[in-house]
Amino acid sequence: MKENPMIINQYEKFGICKEVYAFGRKIEEKLKDRFLSFDQTAELNQLKVIAAMQKHRVSAECFNATSGYGYNDLGRDTLEKVYAECFRGEDALVRPQITCGTHALALALMSNLRPGDELLSPVGKPYDTLEEVIGIRPSKGSLAEYGITYRQVDLLPEGNFDYEGIQKAINEKTKIVTIQRSKGYAVRPTLSVSKIGELISFIKKIKPGIICMVDNCYGEFVEEKEPLEAGADMIVGSLIKNPGGGLAPIGGYIAGKKECVEHAAYRLTSPGLGKEVGASLGVIQSFYQGLFLAPSVVNSALKGAVFAANIYEALGFDVFPKGGESRHDIIQAVTFHEKAPMIAFCQGIQAAAPVDSYVTPEPWAMPGYDSDVIMAAGAFVQGSSIELSADGPVKLPYSVYFQGGLTWYHAKFGILMSLQKLYEQNLVNKDLMC
Ligand SMILES: *Cc1c(COP(=O)(O)O)cnc(C)c1O
Repeated sequence: MKENPMIINQYEKFGICKEVYAFGRKIEEKLKDRFLSFDQTAELNQLKVIAAMQKHRVSAECFNATSGYGYNDLGRDTLEKVYAECFRGEDALVRPQITCGTHALALALMSNLRPGDELLSPVGKPYDTLEEVIGIRPSKGSLAEYGITYRQVDLLPEGNFDYEGIQKAINEKTKIVTIQRSKGYAVRPTLSVSKIGELISFIKKIKPGIICMVDNCYGEFVEEKEPLEAGADMIVGSLIKNPGGGLAPIGGYIAGKKECVEHAAYRLTSPGLGKEVGASLGVIQSFYQGLFLAPSVVNSALKGAVFAANIYEALGFDVFPKGGESRHDIIQAVTFHEKAPMIAFCQGIQAAAPVDSYVTPEPWAMPGYDSDVIMAAGAFVQGSSIELSADGPVKLPYSVYFQGGLTWYHAKFGILMSLQKLYEQNLVNKDLMC
């Protein structure tokens, strides 16, 4: 393709120099085939979403706001059928009353476990915020306080499942197995849906009654299949990540076996009430529209992640996953081993944002972290990480976690801007850019 001088000119107005632009273009050229395969996954997932909406007869009435108890909320009930259909579950709970991903996961666990049961994580330490839910770090209202025990089997050093250890850990008390699909902020590979499937079939052979729950955060629509299709009983996620498509202003979901979802509903509202109550207020239309856009938004975020990986890998930085690796979530880590480039990276992402672009992110002490943290986010929805964002603890090895991008063009611009900041401060080896 010939370069469009108007685009180059616009980038220049944003302060992106010719060298940075040309380097980005060279990297993008090499990613054509990769991008085409992402497009194909997005196409399939888009059709899946539309088919689910058609099958369940989504209509304009579904967008009406309900208030109070929310009895017979057609929009809410239909949306839950659409989610169940898309993710191939028997049922789903999709609610604005589920405040975030951690809440959705806590709800799924607390509603399906009883005192005396045991929870097992066969994939190592779960996401940070779950430590307090489980009671690994003592906390008010944790599962531990209710007499629910926890066991963990770490992944083997190469990232494989410790099948022997898992077999030993499963006992008469084991009720739920929790499998985190995305690596989150851990240094281990993200699990593909097919790897999750292998793990689940191994577990079910040992004890068929175990409920296999997958923390699906950041994984939705990245692949052609979702974990319920690989044997999971329950998947859980946040609507301000992938499935909300950037439009949902709040919310979480649980999808899977009817009984699991039912338990969650009775816990979310009350025994006796379950799914029957819970007004959708005015947000339900954005849930539908967000789900409709989600395959294409996730596609943009994936392109951004792979573009960033290849840019920074070519410049000699450690990237995880590697530029050429297959993708199972939308997170990209870049390790700088030094403070200055990490901060410059985040400042570049911020400078490219549609919202709050004029602020400069700085490292600061955040509750719950043992070091300063830097966060770049210029999002329409507070904390939304399907929107272009980057953050990380400001300590060795100075890794920044980069994710999101509602459009590929914005993700690309953000990454070019990050590189521009490094370039200006002489934090990159310019010889590698030629
Ligand atoms: C984001 C995330 C969570 C928690 O979600 P919040 O909305 O931040 O509470 C849990 N697990 C994983 C893997 C996540 O990425």
